[in-house]
Amino acid sequence: MTKIVEHFINGEIVADDNSRYQDVFNPATGEVSKQVAIASKATVEQAIGAAEAAFPAWRNTSPAKRTQVMFRLKTLLEEHSETICNMISDEHGKVHHDAMGELTRAIENVEFACGAPQFLKGEHSKNVGTNIDSWSEFQALGVVAGITPFNFPAMVPFWMWPLAVVCGNTFVLKPSEKTPSASLFMAQLALEAGLPPGVLNVVNGDKEAVDTLLQDPRVQAVSFVGSTPIAEYIYTTGTAHGKRVQALGGAKNHAILMPDAALDNAVPAIMGAAYGSCGERCMALPLVVAVGDEVADALIEELKIELAKMKIGPGRDNSNDMGPLITKAHYDKVKGYVDLGVEEGATLVVDGRDTVVEGYENGYFLGGCLFDHVTPEMKIYKDEIFGPVLGIVRVKTQQEAMELINNHEYGNGTCIFTRDGESARYFTDNIKVGMVGVNVPLPVPVSYHSFGGWKRSLFGDLSMYGPDGVRFWTRRKTITQRWPSASLREGTSFSFPNS
Ligand code: NAD
Repeated sequence: MTKIVEHFINGEIVADDNSRYQDVFNPATGEVSKQVAIASKATVEQAIGAAEAAFPAWRNTSPAKRTQVMFRLKTLLEEHSETICNMISDEHGKVHHDAMGELTRAIENVEFACGAPQFLKGEHSKNVGTNIDSWSEFQALGVVAGITPFNFPAMVPFWMWPLAVVCGNTFVLKPSEKTPSASLFMAQLALEAGLPPGVLNVVNGDKEAVDTLLQDPRVQAVSFVGSTPIAEYIYTTGTAHGKRVQALGGAKNHAILMPDAALDNAVPAIMGAAYGSCGERCMALPLVVAVGDEVADALIEELKIELAKMKIGPGRDNSNDMGPLITKAHYDKVKGYVDLGVEEGATLVVDGRDTVVEGYENGYFLGGCLFDHVTPEMKIYKDEIFGPVLGIVRVKTQQEAMELINNHEYGNGTCIFTRDGESARYFTDNIKVGMVGVNVPLPVPVSYHSFGGWKRSLFGDLSMYGPDGVRFWTRRKTITQRWPSASLREGTSFSFPNS
């Protein structure tokens, strides 16, 4: 019998009473490994109802007690890391060591959430007026929701819900229907760690589930991570329904390779960032802008050598460097972009289109592809391909390279490879991108900073997790208080109060 991935509502696995199910594939074999239930509106409403019922008691639970759950959860996640990473490799395709990296980043967000008593302390001012004190509290919003993409089945949900719940909210998570198992399993671990039923609920599903979350008046805030068209839809629909929304979208990250860069360091960094996780990361590096032909030629020679060594195969085999793409449809799309790049006139230096992995002939494996002479008019330059396709753009100056980046639709991540501090400082100061690396190809902020792009990579005002996350999941209340002496009676004043 095919295994079914159901929902998790009020602390229990819940079957949907409608009959919509969708296949979940193992991308390494191309086989259907299980099916995922696609939630009806009624099931999502049931989850929202469970979260609403759990809110009053959870809101009044002390932050210190809420964080005790997080301490226990961290231990459970570490104990079950093999199981979680196998789930990720089997549904997403990424290699086990890469899944472990993702899980470590997920756990870092649990660690940050353990600081809730500290970051919820608020702000206090004594004597803002004579014998008048004033303070700000950061109060929970109520029922909040998260909608996540396929490419980080563990990490991205953990960018959201641990912080949201330690702030006192109750949560409904809608993970990607392509990679649903890790979220369900980790929610069960949270229950085991002591999270009360109803505080975290997981509904699997598609647009119907998402639209229910966006429209239901009980949901106060929605956090989204996924592609830009859907991010924009989530932002406009959610805000039109009066909700607080942060919606992180797609990317096309550029690295600038300066003529003085240390290639020994830059080449391995570029290889990992371009081809790791088969290029299916929002912080992946699909473009390198080389300043000068000399460094461009040298880079390409080195990349050819490294690409010939790259080991491609199933994610369960830890000796592999790169796994398959997520679905057959995505494989066809990425391969189509490689065909298009050739038609557009870029030079295909390394062609991964004929890659076949022995014993896994039906898997969605595409070898690493490398284009030279990519230009800004090409679609392979403009579009997010989300696959193992790296393009080299040649320019003459750093300024020219920066203008390309600043004019691009997306502004998620970027990086400069250089040994020159002045170049690096000018770059970090003037580049119009949210997350910037200097000799760091994947400048993903750690959990105690915040993650977010600029331009069409983020819709909303606040970035994800860290300090911005605390602001997103709470609302400020400012209280002004005095206790006038019983013997003191003041006259009425009609002028505006001041200190
Ligand atoms: P996606 O936009 O297709 O799906 C994301 C979520 O939205 C899923 O839960 C999905 O079920 C839901 N969804 C899909 N279509 C919908 C619709 N029409 N209406 C309502 N909901 C819908 O993204 P994906 O393919 O799962 O993930 C890859 C994308 O995510 C890439 O563009 C990548 O750059 C982006 N991403 C961005 C970040 C970031 O932090 N900026 C991080 C990871 C991934």
